[in-house]
Amino acid sequence: MKRRYLLTPGPSQVPSFVREALGREMMHHRTEEFREILKVSGEGLKEIFCTKNPVLTLASSGTGAMEAAVTNLVNKGEKIIVLRGGKFSERWAEIAKAWGIETINMDVVWGTSPDPVELDKLLTANKGVKAVYTTLCETSTATVFDIKSLAQVTKKHNVMIAVDAISGLGQDLLLTDEWGVDVVVSGSQKGLMLPPGLAFISLSEKAQAAAMTANQPTFYFSLKKALKNYEKNDTAFTPAVSLIVGLKDAVNAIKEDGVAARFVRFAKMAYAVREAGKAIGLTVYSKRPSDSVTAFHVPEGMKAKEIVKKMRKEYGLSIAAGQGEELEEKIIRIAHMGWVNEQDLIMCFSLLEKVLKDMGYKIKIGASVARFQEVIYG
Ligand SMILES: *Cc1c(COP(=O)(O)O)cnc(C)c1O
Repeated sequence: MKRRYLLTPGPSQVPSFVREALGREMMHHRTEEFREILKVSGEGLKEIFCTKNPVLTLASSGTGAMEAAVTNLVNKGEKIIVLRGGKFSERWAEIAKAWGIETINMDVVWGTSPDPVELDKLLTANKGVKAVYTTLCETSTATVFDIKSLAQVTKKHNVMIAVDAISGLGQDLLLTDEWGVDVVVSGSQKGLMLPPGLAFISLSEKAQAAAMTANQPTFYFSLKKALKNYEKNDTAFTPAVSLIVGLKDAVNAIKEDGVAARFVRFAKMAYAVREAGKAIGLTVYSKRPSDSVTAFHVPEGMKAKEIVKKMRKEYGLSIAAGQGEELEEKIIRIAHMGWVNEQDLIMCFSLLEKVLKDMGYKIKIGASVARFQEVIYG
């Protein structure tokens, strides 16, 4: 018998109070009772998204909302810019390509954030760009992009900005309205403490107007339809009823903690994680580390997947290796999102120390845990 601890950057751990909500008796969705649940969870999402605008709930994984953000905002023949610096930011360009949308890619070194000055130049040189697509937490490199500065640039050029906050939402600071972000996309299985299966998308007035008039073919992921139903606390199709019942409780719990207080808490936890790693000689991969997930270079001569596998097989605790050929074996990633707390991370470091030691890495047992405790409790 083994317990399972999920410190992967999605899916993340689901608390027992949410699991209990997910298992309740099925209810019909065209009822007052369900509409109230949809309304309360939708209002709660607005707080977490830091927006006064609608946050739509779709039945898909996060990528469904990413695709909707492309197909519903960009008309045939219009151009977009994609800011790429890892596996997930590349996805925006892959979606655009699949839909035949002309895309200008601005690539940055992995582990760094796109430079707003470069974006400014690119937008000056390319008139008629409809929107810029980018990422809050680039999960593959554990890097947080400087959305605030990038949104200042898009605002200056009167171009929309869409942000993939699937992993970052709730941990990495994102002040959607204050920073002038038009579209924010997220998913249920990371910071929101739910199983996979729901996608979310917030739309500024400008983005709503674009969605109402867009001329790409859409059906299931028509945001026009979703917006019209949202006004009536309804959904166009059968919603993922149980997940939305769970969402209400998850969102309420986050509100009880306080959205602002959680940003502070995750920033401190992320700092403690970086410090703990350094205390056993690990180095942080990212130049602009995220508060949702941390990536460390694996020690010389070791393979990331082997470390991950040993931790899971021997102790039931899951972290992640890298993504993409280049990074796969080079980094390990520890998620601190959603339900993950300080005590989970202490356990994670104690097991990481044990596994690294077993693999022949010179280590002073307890050093990372001590440093973590010093930062958190000290
Ligand atoms: C997990 C993740 C996705 C993918 O979401 P799915 O729910 O698997 O579709 C996209 N972007 C980022 C930044 C992610 O972390």
